[in-house]
Amino acid sequence: MTKVTFLGGCRQVGASAVLVEQAGARIVMDYGTAFNGTQRVPLPTSTRNLTSVLSHAHLDHSGSLPLITGSQSHRVPMYSTKLTKELVKLLLMDMLRINGDSLAFERKEVQTLLQNTRTINYGQPVQVHPKVRFSLHDAGHIPGSASILVETEANGGGPARILYSGDLNTTDTRLVNGAQSLRRLGDLDLIIVESTYAREDHPSRRTVEETFVEASRSTLESGGTVLVPSFAVGRAQEILAVLNQHRHRGFDYPIYVDGMARKVTRIMQQHTKAFSGGPSLRKAAGEVRFIRNSSDRKAALDEPAIIVAPAGMLKGGTAQIYLRNIADDSRSSVLLVGKQLPGTPGAQLLESGEITLGGYHENPITIQVKAKVESFDFSCHVGRREVLEYLKQAQGNPTILTMHGEAASCETLAQNLRERFGFTAQAATCGQTLTFN
Ligand SMILES: [Zn+2]
Repeated sequence: MTKVTFLGGCRQVGASAVLVEQAGARIVMDYGTAFNGTQRVPLPTSTRNLTSVLSHAHLDHSGSLPLITGSQSHRVPMYSTKLTKELVKLLLMDMLRINGDSLAFERKEVQTLLQNTRTINYGQPVQVHPKVRFSLHDAGHIPGSASILVETEANGGGPARILYSGDLNTTDTRLVNGAQSLRRLGDLDLIIVESTYAREDHPSRRTVEETFVEASRSTLESGGTVLVPSFAVGRAQEILAVLNQHRHRGFDYPIYVDGMARKVTRIMQQHTKAFSGGPSLRKAAGEVRFIRNSSDRKAALDEPAIIVAPAGMLKGGTAQIYLRNIADDSRSSVLLVGKQLPGTPGAQLLESGEITLGGYHENPITIQVKAKVESFDFSCHVGRREVLEYLKQAQGNPTILTMHGEAASCETLAQNLRERFGFTAQAATCGQTLTFN
C-alpha cells in the first residue's frame, strides 16, 4: 500500500511538504517555511528511513529542511538539481543571518543538510528502495526548479505513480522555458498541484514586457531613477534578461543590481547550461553593474538608471535604501514586478502611496512617495487557463489534490477540475492521508 500524507502548504502558500510512504521507504517532497498564515512549519515527521527531495530553492519549499535533514541521529539524504543546491545554500544562510533568533535550527544543521545533499539531473531516476524510485522533471518556474515523480510498486497490487508539481509555469519566459506537457509522463494515479493563481488569468508575457520597458523608458527620459524592487531568486534575473533584450533597440541606460539579487545572479551565471535562458542571462549579467558598497549605491542614484534590488515586496532589503532616496522625486518611478501580499510594505505603497519603512532593527517610519508606482504581472506560476490546460493532458485518469494557494484558490481549482473534466479532485488539508492499492 502506498500512503501519501500532506504535512503542510495546504490552503495556504508556505510550509509545503508532502510525504510518500511505501514498503518502509519514506520520501518527503519539500519541507518549507511560511512567512504568513496559520502554519509556519510543516507537521513533524520521523527521520527514520527518510529521503528528502526538494523541488526548488524558494524558502516556502526549502526553509524548514534543516529541521529534518540536519538531524545527526538519522542521516537523511536530500536530493535536488545542482543549481537548486547552490541557491538553497545561499537562502538558508541568509535566513539564519536575518531570522536566526526565531529559528529552530542553526548553522550546523544547514551544514549537515548541505553535506547530505546529492545533486541529480532532470529525468535521472533515483531508486531509494527496490519498490520505490523518483525523478525530477523541469517545472519551468525558476532555474533549477522541478516537479517530482514518485513511482512505487505495491505488494500484490499495481504500481502507483504520483506527480508533485511543485511551483509550476508552462509559459516560456526570457529565463526559463515552460514545463512540457504532462502527456510525456504517462499514466498517473495522483497529481498534487499548486493553486497559487488558479483564480486569475495572467496577461500575455510579451505585453507585460513591453509595458514594463516603456514605463522604464519614459522615467529615464525624464531624468528619473527606475527602482525595481524584485524577488532575488528568478524574478530579478528575468528582469535583467528582459531589459537586455531591449538594450540594442535604443534602450541603453545603466542597469544596477544590488543585494541578494546580485549574489543569486552570480550563482546562476555559473550554471547557465542548466536553464534555457542561461545564455541570455550571461549576456545580460555581463552588461550590468553589480553594487558592492554605499559609494556604488550613491553613484547609481546620480544618473538616470534602472536599479534592481530586493526585497520584492519592499519588506527589508536594499530596495528600501533606494526608495528613501527617490521617494520625493516625481520624475522617478517604482516598478513592482511581483505580487504584493496583503500587509506588506509593497501592498501599502500600491494602495495608499505611502510606505512604512524600517528594517529588523530600526523603528518604522511612514513616508509619502511622490515617485510613480506601477505594478507588472511577471508571475512565474501557472494562471487559471494554464493550470487547467496542463492538467487536461493528464493520462490515466488520476486523482488530483490541490495545494499551495489560498483556500479559495485551492477549492476553486479542485471544483473546476471536477466540473469541467470529471476528475476526482479536492483541496488537500493538512494531515490528510490518501492510500493507493
Ligand atoms: Zn517558488
